[in-house]
Amino acid sequence: MTRDDITGAGGAGAQEAVFARRERLRANLAALRERVAAACAAAGRSPEDVHLIAVTKTFPASDVRALAGLGVTDVGENRDQEAAAKAAACADLPLRWHFVGQLQTNKARSVARYADLVHSVDRERLVRALGARARAEGRRVGCLVQVNLDLDSAAGVLGPRGGADPADVLAVADAVAEEEGLLLEGVMAVAPREGDPDAAFARLYAVAERVRDRYAQARTISAGMSGDLEAAVRQGATHLRVGTALLDDRNPNVG
Ligand SMILES: *Cc1c(COP(=O)(O)O)cnc(C)c1O
Repeated sequence: MTRDDITGAGGAGAQEAVFARRERLRANLAALRERVAAACAAAGRSPEDVHLIAVTKTFPASDVRALAGLGVTDVGENRDQEAAAKAAACADLPLRWHFVGQLQTNKARSVARYADLVHSVDRERLVRALGARARAEGRRVGCLVQVNLDLDSAAGVLGPRGGADPADVLAVADAVAEEEGLLLEGVMAVAPREGDPDAAFARLYAVAERVRDRYAQARTISAGMSGDLEAAVRQGATHLRVGTALLDDRNPNVG
């Protein structure tokens, strides 16, 4: 049985399941906020400078609604089809929608309709597609240039997680800045699976500074997930993308 089956069924049992899920999310959110506050304190940073994005991929719209009721303002998704449906189901909520997954150019039209900030902009062709679609929608879509922090892929083999080579980031940023429908807000990265996340996020910070030197408004550094958010906070992250620490384990077959 899936969570949708539980919350979609009628009766008192379903009511209880909805209540239990909300209490679970409330407890997870409180624990996560404490964890972020402790990380900020240890790093000598103000918690107000570190924003939380709830990555709700694979979880139902009812969880997004529950999180919004608990004060979450930002949600992230990594697949267009799922994100579009959830954003439509939650259109009445005052949420900022983040697209954090690898993005194919042919999905730009859909994403430009609902995304407020696209974290995974990593090539000029995608920039042009997103820009054209955002203009057609009469929207201004925020963009982060995704940076590939995988040292192995310096040899030319792109890592499985996407992202521009650090040497190409400024060119992608320039392309975003030239697009009327887009707004350059900063950079994003996923730490490599292997190795020290502090070292990886320090490399991201150096790239972020170069982008910010050219575009003063591009101050966002999206880094850090459930497993490495302390390292991200130490290395200057302004936005954390947290899934499992907030929503519990995803179905291992998806997401
Ligand atoms: C799923 C995902 C996250 C959240 O990961 P957790 O380990 O569940 O916190 C963050 N960023 C991206 C790009 C993701 O795809």
